[in-house]
Amino acid sequence: PGVLYIVATPIGNLEDMTFRAVRILKEVDLVAAEDTRHSRKLLTHFGISRPLTSYYDHNQNLKGNYLLERLQGGESVALISDAGTPCISDPGYQLVRDAVAAGITVVPVPGPSAAICALSAAGLPTDSFVFAGFLPNRSGKRREKLASLAGEQRVMVFYESPNRLLATLTDMLELFGPRETVVARELTKIYEEFIRGSLPSVISNLDGRQIKGEVVILVAPDDAPGAPPVTAVPELLRRCLEEGL
Ligand code: SAM
Repeated sequence: PGVLYIVATPIGNLEDMTFRAVRILKEVDLVAAEDTRHSRKLLTHFGISRPLTSYYDHNQNLKGNYLLERLQGGESVALISDAGTPCISDPGYQLVRDAVAAGITVVPVPGPSAAICALSAAGLPTDSFVFAGFLPNRSGKRREKLASLAGEQRVMVFYESPNRLLATLTDMLELFGPRETVVARELTKIYEEFIRGSLPSVISNLDGRQIKGEVVILVAPDDAPGAPPVTAVPELLRRCLEEGL
């Protein structure tokens, strides 16, 4: 059988493409991409003209079988996503799992991932951490999930969309208390920014601003575990700001 390559691509800055990624993408028989139009631009930029096919959340079953057949027929396939590392809050997990079960060799071609990129420069402890991915969109489910993470003793790394950022940070303040937090925005791009501080000060920094671009949220563990949960956010926010926390 052929080889399935899991190839990371840049999360903004095209200079982060690796030499190996370019070589593998030039050599494979087929490139499977989340969004073929988006990826065609990237491939063209690097002079890569291999055939592209789509592999995304809603065609995974059908497309997965097709890709496995081609792999079993001896062809090599590279999986890429719109940005960063496939399978990390992106499609790919099921394909890798099925390929492993079918005895196909799976080779990672590492590169950028927003979570590790954010963590590396956040200034929070890095010895052990939890990648929590995306929280549920709906407030009720999101708060349930956050409540279940409140006792976590490691740094937590979340992906979030810019339009939910403030609502999520506010829910975090309520369920976690005034923890040390970093919002990493537009990583590797022109407007890259790290907003660091306690949850209340990060919230007040962002409040009223129109947040654009992509964001990663990192939350440190509680310094004083066992503190009672906070119920009144506006009151807590006011107190923290008054005390300069
Ligand atoms: N597979 C990707 C990776 O390895 O990072 C993640 C894909 S996920 C669908 C997209 C999310 O990743 C965004 O909502 C954001 O939270 C984060 N992200 C991706 N690129 C980013 C960037 N340049 N700056 C900040 N966050 C980014």
